[in-house]
Amino acid sequence: MKKILLQLALLLVSSTLFAKEIPKYALVIHGGAGVMSEKLMTPEIQKQYHAALNRALQVGDSVLKAGGTCMDAVEKTIMVMEDSPLFNAGKGAVLNHEGIAELDASVMDGKTLSAGAVAGVKDIKNPIRLARTVMEKSEHVLLTGSGASQFAVQQGFKLVPNSYFITEKRQKELQELLKKEREAGINDKHGTVGCVALDTFGNIAAGTSTGGMSNKKFGRIGDSPIIGAGTYANNSTGGFSCTGHGEYFIRLGFSRDISAMMEYRQMSIIKACQEEINKLTQLGGTGGVIGLDKQGNVAMEFNTSGMFRGFVLSTGEKYTGIFK
Ligand code: ASP
Repeated sequence: MKKILLQLALLLVSSTLFAKEIPKYALVIHGGAGVMSEKLMTPEIQKQYHAALNRALQVGDSVLKAGGTCMDAVEKTIMVMEDSPLFNAGKGAVLNHEGIAELDASVMDGKTLSAGAVAGVKDIKNPIRLARTVMEKSEHVLLTGSGASQFAVQQGFKLVPNSYFITEKRQKELQELLKKEREAGINDKHGTVGCVALDTFGNIAAGTSTGGMSNKKFGRIGDSPIIGAGTYANNSTGGFSCTGHGEYFIRLGFSRDISAMMEYRQMSIIKACQEEINKLTQLGGTGGVIGLDKQGNVAMEFNTSGMFRGFVLSTGEKYTGIFK
């Protein structure tokens, strides 16, 4: 009997010693997934991406550390990446067939299941902020194009000229694509940004912002502003933001499907994200997803050679990565 008690006590001590500490808050980001080669990306460029990801994480971390909400953290973190010309969102977004930046963004609140999104906007500096305003200040979930801009002005937003978003790099990229047009069709230049945050109140929010796909035509809209495809959040499962070839993510109902697997099949967030990436691969699509659940478990899954990504936890743990 004594021996059994001793064993039990030992078990208890070791399980508390080795149990993973549940973070009080957590934040995960992506800056797009795609074909990335460690050989082709110079160390200097890699350094720039790590620095930009770290800046974004730092902003999100300070919001959450100060007791801010997950929605504030998502918005502020994504704004850092929208303002960086490195990513395909806000400044430095890819250009459409006509050489114009057309931006999409969305947010979702996991506590109330409220959501807001904008698509095809050409004059909003930080589309993620407008997506949040659609959620909070309108009766709608998704506004597009000039209507979205009209709403923005009504809400006190200042419009910017489209030239604000355009960088030399994206112009060159488009010119190359136009040259190769016949073989190219839609290409796979990724770089969308996304963020999921868990705050100290136990709430989860997710957001995504993008310029879509380079050389897009006909008012094409991808998955990023589609709730349940590129973005989804539900406190009872988790929050998700996707990046990749949007058409496939829409067809799979990608992020909502992950949430459903967790809800109906009690799958862990990592298993559910992996399973969804398998479905993407089977369908012939490419891309990745980040996710976060109530316990602060982080998922960063992708089927491409790289995904700009990172996370930060209240425990002080921090990570940024590019390649598989
Ligand atoms: N998912 C985005 C879209 O299809 C693009 C990307 O993530 O790079 O619009």
